[in-house]
Amino acid sequence: MTVLVLGGAGYIGSHAVDRLLDNGYDVAVVDNLVTGHKEAVRKEARLHIGDVRDKAFLRKVFTEENVEGVVHFAAFSVVPESMKDPLKYFDNNTGGMITLLEVMHEFNVANIVFSSTAATYGEPKQIPIKETDPQIPTNPYGESKLAMEKIMHWSDVAYGIKFVALRYFNVAGAKPDGSIGEDHNPETHLIPIILQVAAGKRDKLQIFGSDYPTKDGTNVRDYVHVVDLADAHILALKYLADGNDSNAFNLGSATGFSNLEILEAARRATGKEIPAVMAPRRPGDPSTLIAASDKARDILGWKPQYDDVEKIIASAWNWHEKHPNGYKG
Ligand code: NAD
Ligand code: UDP
Repeated sequence: MTVLVLGGAGYIGSHAVDRLLDNGYDVAVVDNLVTGHKEAVRKEARLHIGDVRDKAFLRKVFTEENVEGVVHFAAFSVVPESMKDPLKYFDNNTGGMITLLEVMHEFNVANIVFSSTAATYGEPKQIPIKETDPQIPTNPYGESKLAMEKIMHWSDVAYGIKFVALRYFNVAGAKPDGSIGEDHNPETHLIPIILQVAAGKRDKLQIFGSDYPTKDGTNVRDYVHVVDLADAHILALKYLADGNDSNAFNLGSATGFSNLEILEAARRATGKEIPAVMAPRRPGDPSTLIAASDKARDILGWKPQYDDVEKIIASAWNWHEKHPNGYKG
């Protein structure tokens, strides 16, 4: 079966391509390399460099490739940037989805697995967050992704394009052999920033906000290993290939760690001191995000292998140590 992975040169997409190939899928990748790296894409996958919003380009890819399923990672995903430049997010994320669905409809491709996010829930009313809970984003990034879920819903109703929206919580870690990992410039995510401090590339960590209503005043997040996450996409493709209805699943561990707890775990995982200071809140941050993820376990049969946040951080540290300058060396 040929799977088209959009955004397959990115952090999560490259791990998904790796797992799809390991599981015997034929893989084609679309990526404009705006934040991705061609070195992250395994040679066995065919990389088409271009933009999801470019309809002529997408039509060419769908003509050349016998696409049977689509996995869509291509998006911008930096919350603070989306607060400053929301239209950039609606254009790339939401706009890209419209073009993709138009071309899928034209080529009779009826299955899509989509990277959604905990950011579609906004500030939750109850913890852990269930898939049926209200989705009221607190930032344009989350809003752009919620709009994409809704566009897929109406495309299912009208054209019969079935979708699985996987709502990731915080993704971290790297392939255990350290050959691929997270390389964003500028980096904005907590764990890679902590590891840059551990590696001496930054002076200190700034912890954004110490007055949240949480156990120690810092934000609480739910971390999932990128390889476990990648495997959930394969289960979602199988779920759709079996003729099931469109659906949405949370992907998380059901355990919350505060930013201070992550810092402590990183100090243990790396053996480094990692200086840190408290800083003002970052606009758009919900205080606590923890997933109820039994639905993915029950319906998709998802069995995450990494249940220990220190091991998740250790796998990211292994990638950092092997590639101190990311894909550049
Ligand atoms: P990433 O930036 O590493 O990967 C995104 C990839 O998409 C990049 O390779 C980029 O070049 C490509 N891309 C972006 N816009 C494109 C376009 N218009 N046309 C073609 N290619 C384009 O990000 P990531 O961390 O791997 O995230 C992947 C997906 O997962 C995103 O959709 C993101 O919203 C979602 N997500 C990520 C997290 C997380 O913790 N990293 C959490 C929730 C959801
Ligand atoms: N964070 C932080 N310092 C940093 C980067 C992030 O304190 O340099 C915090 C951020 O405010 C949030 C948590 O770490 O509370 C996770 O942020 P990240 O950007 O990794 O993921 P998000 O939860 O926004 O998807």
